Formats: sequence, structure tokens, C-alpha cells
Amino acid sequence: MNTSTELRNVSLYDATQADLAQLFAGQPKYRVEQVWQALYTQLKPIDEISNISAAMREQLASAFPPALILKTQQNNADGDTVKFLWTLRNGQHPIETVLMLYQDRATVCVSTQAGCAMGCGFCATGQAGFSRHLTAGEIVEQAIRAAQVALKLERRVSNVVFMGMGEPLANEGPVRAAVEKLHGDVGISARHLTVSTVGIVPGIKALTKWPLPVNLAVSLHAARDELRNELVPINKRYPLDMLMEACIDYLKVKNRRVTFEWALIDKVNDTDQDAEELAVLCKRLTPGAHVNLIPLNPTPGYSTRGSSGNHVRQFASWLEDLGVNVTVRRNRGTDIDAACGQLAAGQAITPVTLGRREDTSD
Ligand code: SAH
Ligand code: SF4
Repeated sequence: MNTSTELRNVSLYDATQADLAQLFAGQPKYRVEQVWQALYTQLKPIDEISNISAAMREQLASAFPPALILKTQQNNADGDTVKFLWTLRNGQHPIETVLMLYQDRATVCVSTQAGCAMGCGFCATGQAGFSRHLTAGEIVEQAIRAAQVALKLERRVSNVVFMGMGEPLANEGPVRAAVEKLHGDVGISARHLTVSTVGIVPGIKALTKWPLPVNLAVSLHAARDELRNELVPINKRYPLDMLMEACIDYLKVKNRRVTFEWALIDKVNDTDQDAEELAVLCKRLTPGAHVNLIPLNPTPGYSTRGSSGNHVRQFASWLEDLGVNVTVRRNRGTDIDAACGQLAAGQAITPVTLGRREDTSD
């Protein structure tokens, strides 16, 4: 090994093939490919890579350690949802990941930032504020570590949704690199990758130029600026007209489904007028946007309740009558506090222990 060149101080899934080649400089070249395959295709933790020596495994772990330290792993009662709470290597910055096992697919919901700076009042992550961006490797590692758990249950992760803590398009470069790694190295198809955004227009424009056509989900929640300014403060910078233009362009260029997410809040955005306004926006896209309704989950910093189950169905049927394609997000994981988009990861607001949150799904 060339000891005169210092190794980069990066985490395991941030290390490049060139980094591994430098680490194993004294070894035959095929070793790098072998380790790469073990990490990304066979999804092995370092200590289970059995076709390299124990000394090499130690070398790898000490040069490029995993970024995530597991704090808690909770399964829901049905055994189909697993929530992971990690801290990053410095022992700070808790983040969360959720694995969801469906009949036809297994989905991981990953965080892209520790916290979030967007300040949506109804969201626990927003209430906790921003700590730091995650690196591409830290994002990829969440998917791989969850996939390792899925493998033990004889399930293969097929989908990754960027809907955990943080705003993916406020951390666009690392999110793009993570998407490329999940696609190129782990082998997840672009149609099974979904980026959810609060509506950062320059980020959507950047996404339009990505080589991979991922699914786009936009957290709309209101279809008129006055209300959206209140619910989603970034709307003041990127109002609805500008946002719709970016979505129309994305659909045109990428030909991928665009979904509008709508957390139903009692008497705030769940009237028939709201449904009509939303239907108008959906139809500005061709083919129309798909709507995903999420009954608002309670969070400590927001007192208004979510719409009742009956009202959620009513809102869905108004939309259907207006010709909009709509799904209601299924509830799961309520007993383990596992809801994408409202994760606070044990920060001041939410204790790490059980609480009441609902579904995470794609
Ligand atoms: N920052 C991105 C992705 C993470 S949030 C975004 O906002 O899209 C993931 C989803 O959870 C978003 O649609 C968000 O609006 C939603 N969400 C946030 N708080 C929620 C709550 N209390 N109840 C239901 N959904 C919520
Ligand atoms: Fe951030 Fe999304 Fe929560 Fe808004 S909803 S605060 S953008 S994580």
C-alpha cells in the first residue's frame, strides 16, 4: 500500500472505487470489484464479506467506517414496518429511516437531511429545525442497512422514496449522487425511485436535467397561494404558478408520473372548494397529476387536527367526481411512530420511544 498518500476521511458508502483501490494498493486489482459487489450487490456488512481476509476487512472498516450508528430498531405489531433510528458518526444528529414491506414490493423511506429548514408548521421535522445535510453515502447507507434487514426476512428492497427527514432538493447534489448509486450500483430502477419535494422550483428544474427519470412527488397541501403561504412558507418564494410550470416541464421532459401530496387538515384544506381548486391544478398537467391524500398526523407543535377518516373518503370522492386520480395513503406502523415527513428523530420535541404517528408509503 502506498503509505505516502493519505486516504480520504469518508464513510463506507461515500468511498469511491478509486478510494478502495488506494486502500488495497498492494492487492490484486480484482479485489476492489469483489468488495464493491459485496457491499452494493450482495448487500453484505463488512464483517460478512467472506471472500477477503480478516485483515482486509479490518483495513476496510478502519479506513472507511459505516456512517450510521444504530440506536433503535422497532418493528410494528404486524411485522411489516421497521423504523430505524441512527446517529451519525460524531454521535450527534439523529436521523430516521423506515422500511415498509408490502405484498408486491419492499420500500425504504430515507432521510436526506438531519432536520429541515423549510419550517412547515405541521411537520415534526420542520418544527425541530435544520442540523445538517447528509452526504450521498449517508443516504445510500440507510437504504442498504434497511435492505440488509429485509434480506433476513427474505425480501429484496425494490423501491426507495426520498420522503424521510429533510428536503431532498435543498440538498440536491448529494441526493442526485445517492439516486445514481442506488440505480447504478444497487440496481434499483429509476421508476422505483421517488423524490418528494416541498416545491423548490430551481431543484425541480435541476431534477428535470438529471439523466435518470425518477418519480416526482410534490407536497402541495394547498392549491391557492394565500393558504399555501401559511402552510408551506417556501411558497412565498416559489408560488403555485411557478411551481406548476416546473411540474409541467418535468412531466413533459421525463414522462414520469407526478404526484401531489396533500395532508388533510381539519377545516383548513379539506373543503369542497379545496378539492375543486386542487382538481384545476391537477388538470394543468397532461396526463393529470395523481393525488396522494395523507390524513394529517398529530405532531407536538401543531394543534389543528387531521380530517376524520370519513372526511378523507369524502374529499377523495369529490376529487374522483372531478376526474382526478386519487389514492389515500394506508395507515401502517402507528404503533412504532413511523411516519415519513413527520420524523423528529428523538430531538427535543419527540422522545425516541413510542408515540403515535401513522403511515409511511410510496
Ligand atoms: N421535505 C419533503 C420530503 C419529506 S416530508 C417534502 O416536504 O415533500 C414527506 C411528506 O410528509 C410530505 O408530503 C409532507 O408534507 C408530509 N408530512 C409532513 N408532516 C406531516 C404530518 N404531520 N402528517 C402527514 N404528513 C405530513
Ligand atoms: Fe421539511 Fe418536508 Fe417537513 Fe416541510 S414537510 S418541514 S419540507 S420535511
